[in-house]
Amino acid sequence: MVLDDLGKSLRGALDDLRGKSRIDEEDVDAVVKEIQRSLLQADVDVDLVMSLSDSIKSRALDEEPPQGTSARDWVLRIVYEELVELVGESTDLPLENQTIMLAGLYGSGKTTTAAKMAWWFSTKGLRPAIIQTDTDRPGAYDQSKEMADRAEVDFYGDPDEDDPVKIAREGLEATESADVRIVDTAGRDGLNEELIAQIERIEQEVNPDRNLLVLDAAMGQSAKSQARDFQEAIGIEGVVITKLDGTAKGGGALAAVDETDSTIAFLGTGETVQDIERFEPDGFISRLLGMGDLKQLTERVERAMEATQDEDEDWDPEDMMEGEFTLYDMQKQMEAMNNMGPLSQVMDMIPGMGGGIMDQLPDNAMDVTEERMRDFQVIMDSMTEGEMENPRVVGKSRIERIARGSGKPEERIRELLEQHKMMERTLKQFQGMGDADMERMMKQMQQ
Ligand code: GDP
Repeated sequence: MVLDDLGKSLRGALDDLRGKSRIDEEDVDAVVKEIQRSLLQADVDVDLVMSLSDSIKSRALDEEPPQGTSARDWVLRIVYEELVELVGESTDLPLENQTIMLAGLYGSGKTTTAAKMAWWFSTKGLRPAIIQTDTDRPGAYDQSKEMADRAEVDFYGDPDEDDPVKIAREGLEATESADVRIVDTAGRDGLNEELIAQIERIEQEVNPDRNLLVLDAAMGQSAKSQARDFQEAIGIEGVVITKLDGTAKGGGALAAVDETDSTIAFLGTGETVQDIERFEPDGFISRLLGMGDLKQLTERVERAMEATQDEDEDWDPEDMMEGEFTLYDMQKQMEAMNNMGPLSQVMDMIPGMGGGIMDQLPDNAMDVTEERMRDFQVIMDSMTEGEMENPRVVGKSRIERIARGSGKPEERIRELLEQHKMMERTLKQFQGMGDADMERMMKQMQQ
């Protein structure tokens, strides 16, 4: 299994943190070094490893662990979250009518995967069919038909036809009554122009809802360039990693996922049609780390975080005028606005704050519609304490993670950060005024 010994070595490094409440750079370096070693051994791309290490390091050192959380739990949570982010979500595969095309090199496990996936869909109550278009490999037809029989699913192929596009066309017609059509394609020893041209023609004929790239887990760094070529030819929506039962590697497949900006759909773990697993990032990482209690642990940390937020009675708007304007401040403002009505009206109700002062604010500073406010609340609930306190640490990868966690589009998260910046700037103007200026302004307004 990928990163097989990561759990063991990481546990050793994490155990050194036991009993500590503060983490220093040396501790974090030790943990990060173990992770790097395991990932590189599993063939994970060096750039990926580096960016993962950076995220873990900066989060472990910059973010404040919630009260009552040990250093060990905190670092483990960060490692877990960042690894989940590295492998990404599972490829979206709605249980509905669809056509899926499989691509990949010869021997990667396409034909086997087609049957496995068909079996998997059949266990979900759908009626799948396999369309076998591999006219190059002698025996592909027989192998595929036999596996389809074993999986007890519909099958279409034509051993006497040598035009794969024609087989694809006729196969689609013949399997019209199926819910899910899985189109298997030919592979070659290496990617060449002929294969690319052929798969492009099949793709045009079939017009699949999804293209999945099938990769042997043992394939090393070359998975990356292969994925790029398939991506350019037909576009790849997801990756199936096969033969995970026989290797401790698999990192090459992660590079392929990264390269195609796609996700992992399935894992192949054996030669029979039932040896397939839907990819689940949480379970996958928990298993990699060899920590069954990980979910419990993350829940414990989460509860501590919530408690910290509930204890927020000491939140004082005065602080906001004095120091940093955090996302907590913005959240509190928004909550207050929710309770009181639109901010402009609220400001109107406060003596001395009506009229004039609103004109001094940028037009869109208060332009937070109710729908956006609701989204912002959900997004902020998905952010860590460190991010709330210091939204500047939120970069591209965190935006992606928060989007996944909150179920809101990345665009919304950027809007939230923009809104925060704008409010912060506005406040800074007031802060910069000094008491005398403020008094003068108040007097003017009261006249
Ligand atoms: P294709 O050329 O891409 O269609 O590859 P095949 O489906 O014919 O698979 C090539 C070989 O790998 C066959 O011997 C399969 O039994 C084997 N294979 C495929 N998937 C797995 C897997 O998940 N685990 C193991 N152990 N063998 C697999």
